[in-house]
Amino acid sequence: MSDFLQVNNVKTSFFTQFGEVQAVGGVSFGLNSGEVLGIVGESGSGKSVTMLSIMRLLDDNGKVKEGEVLFEGKDLVTMSEADMCKIRGDAIAMIFQDPMTCLNPLMTVGKQLMEPLRIHKNMSKDEAFNRAVELLGLVGIPSPKSRMKQYPHEFSGGMRQRVMIAMALSCNPKLLIADEPTTALDVTIQAQILEIMKDIKNKLNTSIILITHDLGVVADICDKVNVMYGGLIVESGAVNDIYYNPKHPYTWGLMESVPNPNTLAKKRLKPIDGQPPDLFKPPKGCPFYARCKYAMKVCQEKRPAFYEISKGHKAACWLNDERAPKVEVPLKGGEADE
Ligand code: SF4
Repeated sequence: MSDFLQVNNVKTSFFTQFGEVQAVGGVSFGLNSGEVLGIVGESGSGKSVTMLSIMRLLDDNGKVKEGEVLFEGKDLVTMSEADMCKIRGDAIAMIFQDPMTCLNPLMTVGKQLMEPLRIHKNMSKDEAFNRAVELLGLVGIPSPKSRMKQYPHEFSGGMRQRVMIAMALSCNPKLLIADEPTTALDVTIQAQILEIMKDIKNKLNTSIILITHDLGVVADICDKVNVMYGGLIVESGAVNDIYYNPKHPYTWGLMESVPNPNTLAKKRLKPIDGQPPDLFKPPKGCPFYARCKYAMKVCQEKRPAFYEISKGHKAACWLNDERAPKVEVPLKGGEADE
């Protein structure tokens, strides 16, 4: 249990004209102050919905049906909307993948940065202006004072993402949730944004949850990792546990589909064949059953228990049971096969 953020058995569904989609099927994890947690998985694995559930930013047809999200001991799920509004953008801030959808194209960047400072921190106009300039400088925007007067379209994609990070940091959040913050950017800019996030962690001790499908990004910045599949966490542990001792076939598959610069010339990357489970009818047993080459009879019938591999490292796979057959673990990073 963590005193900072503790998510307990959160289940989130969307109600559509075709029925209920169980996007998150019971997710639990903790995050300590100053830690960086990576959440990895493919599209539809439930990683973004988990974060939107924490922030209470689900679409109108989405609902957290069960569970609790304890942030510094208070349950965000049952909190009044007025109290939640005070937390959003203040103690907890979020960065999205596409800054253009979050920035107001008709308002100068300076005004957008000053607004939360005026609302949440009661700053005067001058104080907010000076703090906004300071924030733009912090995220590496050159000539920050003169750029305050500019509109979002006058910034490049990478610079806009920096503005978003500055906005998210404006009220000194204790927790920053970043949803695929580098996906839309080219590799050089990606690296710069990750450096800024590392800096934030080191200088401000901000806790960060980083949602990504990129295991390389996770290795670079995270302390621990949750691997999600089919709306569930299937493996969690410290970064080294996940990289050097993964214990779930889906994690192995992710590893094999990651480019490894040491072997790239000789080895082929392996996609994970098949489709994710139908969340209108979540499978009774293991969500990865249909795509898993190690699947056994029990996997189809019974959801795997979480096996503790070592302290803080858990994997939901029957292969970790002492009665399961021993299988050869593929190497990581596309090293398994020619
Ligand atoms: Fe594969 Fe069975 Fe493990 Fe699921 S529980 S990942 S189907 S071996």
